[in-house]
Amino acid sequence: MASYGARSRQRRLILPNPSLTETIMRVVSGIQPTGKPHLGNYLGAIRNYVKLQDDAIAAGGECLIFIADLHAISMPHDPAELRSSTLELVATLVACGLDTNKTVLFNQAQVPAHAELQWLLNGTARMGWLNRMTQFKDKSGKNREGASIALFTYPVLQAADVLLYQATHVPVGDDQKQHLELARDIAQKFNNDFCSDAEPVFTLPEPYIPPEAARIMSLRDGLAKMSKSDPSDMSRINLSDDADTIMKKVKKAKTDAEPLPFEKAGLGGRPEALNLVSIYAAVTGESVDAVLRHYGGEGFGRFKPALGEALVEVLSPISERFNALKQDRESLDAILARGAARAREMGGGTLAAAYNALGLVRG
Ligand code: ATP
Ligand code: MG
Repeated sequence: MASYGARSRQRRLILPNPSLTETIMRVVSGIQPTGKPHLGNYLGAIRNYVKLQDDAIAAGGECLIFIADLHAISMPHDPAELRSSTLELVATLVACGLDTNKTVLFNQAQVPAHAELQWLLNGTARMGWLNRMTQFKDKSGKNREGASIALFTYPVLQAADVLLYQATHVPVGDDQKQHLELARDIAQKFNNDFCSDAEPVFTLPEPYIPPEAARIMSLRDGLAKMSKSDPSDMSRINLSDDADTIMKKVKKAKTDAEPLPFEKAGLGGRPEALNLVSIYAAVTGESVDAVLRHYGGEGFGRFKPALGEALVEVLSPISERFNALKQDRESLDAILARGAARAREMGGGTLAAAYNALGLVRG
């Protein structure tokens, strides 16, 4: 199994991104198929995937993006909805510019190695480690006893998701840093307990914070993150919203009565104003200060229509592509089948090495 070990990996990948210079890279990231993808998902995650794939390709590197459908069953869910959300998420990612000739795009359910490796890693992960995960505490709330086992062990599946592919870099938001640390601890303990120093089975993945990571807040509350699970549809711009809906949501977005300041410091203590200006900056590629040089002194009556137009300009080609692709079930199935075949191939060696290291006889 030596040829599959972390140190013996043949492909050495170097990205041109300055923050990643001299780094060997294989990027792996997942996104859950729950709810409707929104502007926050686009600016905070999907747009970075699109940039990363180009950087990776330019350097002969690799990006794997998966739809985390196995994770979705950790919470109460509707099977028909899960199926359609999975396909809609494929359509969204492709509509946003993910190129399946550059990125390996697949869903976990078609790559059984994710669930298999999770079980193998369950022997290494410690109860004490999982007990410290704050997301379990947040998501189970007061109903800890009634939470699913999957919700508790979900971080071990996340570890399997990235360790399976010898990921070197995992794009993470603040909410996922603790889980990535756990993946590193599991990999380290497995390598220590079951592998020789010369042939560790797993690579310890590093967090990757994209240079332009944007955190987009709710349109109804500048202190709450824009989120799929927010019950109010007016709190977010969905990537499938049409131009009229986008305009309506922006015009109804919560603001204050003051005009816009001339520089960023003036947005302190004005979270809704800061959010709208930041969204404008993110979609136009300008800096917040540049936006304020233009709109400083103006009220929201002038700024909001400009923001709405900027959003429509960026999002309408995406929603057009999304709506066309969504109808094409055959293409969506084919994309996932092709990605999954490639992922099975890429993960097979590490899975076999893990079985072997544990002394499991597979014939
Ligand atoms: P949920 O409310 O169900 O947790 P979500 O809106 O947070 O959904 P996720 O599927 O958890 O969406 O996140 C997918 C990706 O989008 C992650 O990389 C996450 O960091 C990013 N993301 C989610 N919301 C935002 C946001 N408001 N701003 C920037 N990035 C975001
Ligand atoms: Mg989330």
